[in-house]
Amino acid sequence: MIDIRENTEKIMRSVPDGVLVVAATKKRSAKEINEAIKSVITAVGENYVQEAETKFKELQQGVKRHFIGHLQRNKINKALDIFDTIETVDRLSLARAIDKSAGKKGIVFPVLVEVNSGREPQKSGVMPEDAEKLLQDIACLKNIKVEGLMTMGPLVDKAEDIRSFFRLTKELFDKLKDTKLPNIRMKYLSMGMSDTWRVAIEEGANIVRIGTAIFGPRR
Ligand SMILES: *Cc1c(COP(=O)(O)O)cnc(C)c1O
Repeated sequence: MIDIRENTEKIMRSVPDGVLVVAATKKRSAKEINEAIKSVITAVGENYVQEAETKFKELQQGVKRHFIGHLQRNKINKALDIFDTIETVDRLSLARAIDKSAGKKGIVFPVLVEVNSGREPQKSGVMPEDAEKLLQDIACLKNIKVEGLMTMGPLVDKAEDIRSFFRLTKELFDKLKDTKLPNIRMKYLSMGMSDTWRVAIEEGANIVRIGTAIFGPRR
């Protein structure tokens, strides 16, 4: 039996103050998610806009909503209505589309830039060496503001094997922080999942995204 409350409370006890735990809730029911919220989860991350829209209606109020998936163009308008932040901006074209949509709504939308820290061709995220240029370009857009970086990192057998990718992302985060671009405040570094969040926090993450360790294996 999976005890969502017990799992969540155990994680929350081990996570230091100042680190936000985002419950990664793809494929979980509203009931399961509400269990986690009851045990002091304050933020959820969803990968699909449509799935999120249905579930969010049944979620307890007050929880922050992060988009952590691959955002399709035709879903941007809806995403800006139902999410508080988008963690996965990795291209100027996507940033521009979000900016345009946010402009029409008269809001400034907070996002994180996703970095492909493993430089894996099939994966999303801006290449580390291209991140600064992307940030400079986004800095010119008025209705979107970058608040930090997010990375997945490669799939690894041992948590320790991902450390160098998290470290690289943290170094990039610090470097971009020092460049002090307008509209850009490097506050959040989102990295680490069920098997790797401890390493991520050691390497400077202040957002971790945890699914399986809270809810059990995905069906
Ligand atoms: C599913 C997912 C997670 C959580 O993965 P677990 O291994 O289940 O903890 C974190 N981040 C993203 C972007 C995800 O899609």
